[in-house]
Amino acid sequence: MDYPTIAKPGLDDFSVRPNLDRYDALRESFSWQELRRELDGLPGGGLNLAHEAIDRHAARRGDKVAMYWEGAGGEEEQYTFAQMRDLTNRFANVLRGLGIEKGDRVFIFMGRVPELYVAFFGILKAGAIAGPLFSAFGPDPVRDRLEDSGAKVLVVTPELRGRIAHILGDLPDLKHVIVVNKNGRSQDPLAPGDISYEEAMASASPDFDIVPTTEEDYSIMHYTSGTTGKPKGAVHAHLAALQHMATGRWALDLHEDDIYWCTADPGWVTGTSYGMSAPWTNGVSQVIYEGGFRASAWYQVIQKYGVTVWYTAPTAIRMLMKAGDDIPARYDLSTLRHTCSVGEPLNPEAVIWGEKVINNQPFHDNWWQTETGAILIANYPFQDIRPGSMGRPIPGVRTAIVDENGNEVEPGEEGDLAVQPGWPSMFRAYWRNQEMYDSKFKNGWYITGDRARMDSDGYFWFVGRADDVINTAGHLVGPFEVESALIEHPAVAEAGVIGKPDPVAMEVVKAFVSLHEGHEPTDRLRNEIMGFARQKLSAAVAPREIEIVDSLPKTRSGKIMRRLLKARELGLPEGDTSTLEED
Ligand code: ATP
Ligand code: MG
Repeated sequence: MDYPTIAKPGLDDFSVRPNLDRYDALRESFSWQELRRELDGLPGGGLNLAHEAIDRHAARRGDKVAMYWEGAGGEEEQYTFAQMRDLTNRFANVLRGLGIEKGDRVFIFMGRVPELYVAFFGILKAGAIAGPLFSAFGPDPVRDRLEDSGAKVLVVTPELRGRIAHILGDLPDLKHVIVVNKNGRSQDPLAPGDISYEEAMASASPDFDIVPTTEEDYSIMHYTSGTTGKPKGAVHAHLAALQHMATGRWALDLHEDDIYWCTADPGWVTGTSYGMSAPWTNGVSQVIYEGGFRASAWYQVIQKYGVTVWYTAPTAIRMLMKAGDDIPARYDLSTLRHTCSVGEPLNPEAVIWGEKVINNQPFHDNWWQTETGAILIANYPFQDIRPGSMGRPIPGVRTAIVDENGNEVEPGEEGDLAVQPGWPSMFRAYWRNQEMYDSKFKNGWYITGDRARMDSDGYFWFVGRADDVINTAGHLVGPFEVESALIEHPAVAEAGVIGKPDPVAMEVVKAFVSLHEGHEPTDRLRNEIMGFARQKLSAAVAPREIEIVDSLPKTRSGKIMRRLLKARELGLPEGDTSTLEED
């Protein structure tokens, strides 16, 4: 399927000239060492993300706003870089007072309140490893992660503490619970032994010398989304800051005066790499919106804060599309000048929708994963968009398509998406799982687990996760291609495609689709969608079966869980469902 290329204006015709204004030449001359000089480093020579994201800007332009916060109930707060420095120093002192040392794990379990950000960078300043957990988790996923990581301290809100109270006794490594009662929202008394964040912060000093960390010391650990199996604890090092800064400039095109909004929760890697590190290592102001998804509320955030650069995800874009084009028309979105997406394949339909409806801004897809720590492949502002493509690798990173032996294949051929190890934000370990880590490398490549193609101009095209690719009558079919065709049908909101075992064809393609408001799930409609897909795709690739469902199972980070669709279809065990979103 071909979608017309979206052409970009000449460099001088952008309202703001893109940071990345040439590609091939930069790729050739680029060196991470050279860019590394743009980081401050610690006085003693080490590197710490908290210094690069907060203190260095506090020293140079302390009164610049780092964070515009809007609470779920409409509360507004602002924090400058200088305030963030002092608060994070205080929190680092609190941790030091509790005996936290370099390398200890400190986990955070709370919604998107400013204190989450304070705690996160305070943890890094104390030399500890920060582990943010998504606030919608129930007790079991929280216990699994705290147990696996051996976390010593948990920072939590009263409400979430209540949710998991009964598991806290199961965790021998957990020594302290710090309770953040944001703006006195909770009237409940503290449980015995718990530490009040507010009290501890009030008596802590705002001065702190960052515990000397090297660029290789661990900084953050994130459990993966669990789309394909049990979540893995990917561990990152302070050096990742370098790549966050670089991709913040190249892929997000962040400039000094931008107002940036990343919709991802810090419980997932996008929420830390791009909801903390990328904007702040570049000294850019960002909006944090505590509330959940509601189309009108989201457009309102863009209008109210004058958001210029917006980073979101396909699932959110599809929900905005589903909510209708008349809603964005009611808001002033004219400040938006660059929009990006990550997390799942971005259907061409969604890219084009942005251009039609969101201040003429097509969404720029980019690709990366928890393990890669930062964007590796991107559509850049200056570069024409080929809708459906993830774009081209960032300068300083080599990606390739390899066969089952780890040898590069010809352009146009499908294979495993692989990366040459050594990029700064690469994961350094799966926590306590060396074997799993080692299994990801082959013939000198890191094998990502995704299948893709590269065209002759070096653009990468996602095919599917290796586990999701369908083998039907000798054809390998990527679910993404089929799903993208299906959602072009006006009645289809979302689609998830699986291979269903078949005695003749090995597998047949089966699609699950949910409908836009106002469409009834009739046989007639199902047949019509089937015919529509056949017309768009070859008969071999089009779904043989279509089932209309109310909604598709998704991870809490919004990814369609094809493995669950398949397990349910076949009546097999569902496996790890700790990240499954509740309806
Ligand atoms: P798990 O590894 O536990 O199964 P996960 O892979 O979904 O979960 P993440 O690291 O959050 O965990 O997601 C990264 C994956 O998301 C990528 O490997 C890829 O499959 C998918 N992905 C991310 N961005 C894109 C994109 N732009 N296009 C297509 N797929 C994407
Ligand atoms: Mg993965």
